[in-house]
Amino acid sequence: MTRRPTTTTILPRRTMTVALAATALAGCTRGDGSSQGSGQSDGSSPGSGQGSGQSDGGAETSGPSPEELREQKVTQARLQLAQHDPDAAEATLEGLEGEDIEELRTDLRAAREALVDWPDNLQVSHLFFHSLIVDAARAFSGDEQQQGYDDYMCTVDEFTEILQNVYDDGYVLVSPHDLCERTGDRSMDQRVLALPEGRMPLVLSQDDVCYYEYMSGDGFADDLHLDADGRIVNSYTDAEGTTQEGSYDLVPLLDDFLADHPDFSYHGRKGILALTGYNGILGYRSSAREYGDDPQALETAKEQARTVADALKEDGWELASHSWGHLDIAEVPFEKLTADFDRWDEEVRPLTGETDLLILPFGADLSGVEPYDPEDPRYRLVRDHGFDYVFTVDGTAEYWAQLHDGCLRQSRMNVDGIRLRANARGEEHSLEPFFDSSAVIDHARPGM
Ligand SMILES: [Zn+2]
Repeated sequence: MTRRPTTTTILPRRTMTVALAATALAGCTRGDGSSQGSGQSDGSSPGSGQGSGQSDGGAETSGPSPEELREQKVTQARLQLAQHDPDAAEATLEGLEGEDIEELRTDLRAAREALVDWPDNLQVSHLFFHSLIVDAARAFSGDEQQQGYDDYMCTVDEFTEILQNVYDDGYVLVSPHDLCERTGDRSMDQRVLALPEGRMPLVLSQDDVCYYEYMSGDGFADDLHLDADGRIVNSYTDAEGTTQEGSYDLVPLLDDFLADHPDFSYHGRKGILALTGYNGILGYRSSAREYGDDPQALETAKEQARTVADALKEDGWELASHSWGHLDIAEVPFEKLTADFDRWDEEVRPLTGETDLLILPFGADLSGVEPYDPEDPRYRLVRDHGFDYVFTVDGTAEYWAQLHDGCLRQSRMNVDGIRLRANARGEEHSLEPFFDSSAVIDHARPGM
């Protein structure tokens, strides 16, 4: 699957932008969000499809009958075909016969023929978001958090509009792992990434998926959890104090969208969720350092976090380190940085499982356009902790990446109030390749 030799690509005009405050606050528009409707029937999500007690005519073995098994495989193959993965679809169909199977095989042969190799995996855009504002009235309540929420967050309405737009543009969600793969200790090569003509790869990520304490009561979701059907959903507490379950943040909203538009995903990929540790992860106060006073509550929180993390990974999401304490990698004293990386390994990695993805807080970075210096102790720290994919922020470049020393470094475009406002006013054009900011921006924002 390896394509071309390692190259270093430097795109022009790299200007580091805006640090994204950890304290970015949240807030905004509505969200009864419960768009679930189209639950995924694709058998690839936890708890869907399989398992639930089919009793086949009295035998004491329960489990799917041959007919049900065949049906599941056909459904799975259709999904894989929609997700631009004819090879996987073919493998799923292996051993099956019938007219419908032959038709499906014809379709997947045609789909394979129609795939075109993406010319350069270092030219792939990456958009990122923070937590989405469900209730604008509470997020933009005029308190001291309002500015941060306005600057760094998008509303649920903005996000759903943006999704539809980038889908209509022809983007397809891929993982950084589809772009490049490790081929040795200090080497990484581009992979073959094949999409139908006119479709373009896009990486998506969400930072600080921790449901921080400071956001509580400001109109954001409270957590990610599994509902009774095993779907990954949010809890959300409305202004009246009633807690609801549904799609109130990026993960379930994107899952809902993908259920209706499976071709928006390349081989089942979704997005990357970046996690700090100091308030725990995914809405669970799982940090021993911060919440160790109540060992029993801590164990419960860790267990819940692990369960959700496992379900997310099973479902096509990837988890990344965002450092434990949301630190600026370029600025903090080295000893503090080392302790922070150790702390993430100690408190978060046991919950997320292994990851080689590091999303740097504040858009800070270890060098300018020149490749990372393999002798730089901070860079060595990153690599020694197993991070081979490093993500920064550049609000000016449609895409930017560098492959060097076995490490993919990719910049991301922040989609937030700052960019949306600047683009909507025509002061910058960074988001134009993706959507029309003036059509997308939420009028629930202050002063709109
Ligand atoms: Zn962050």
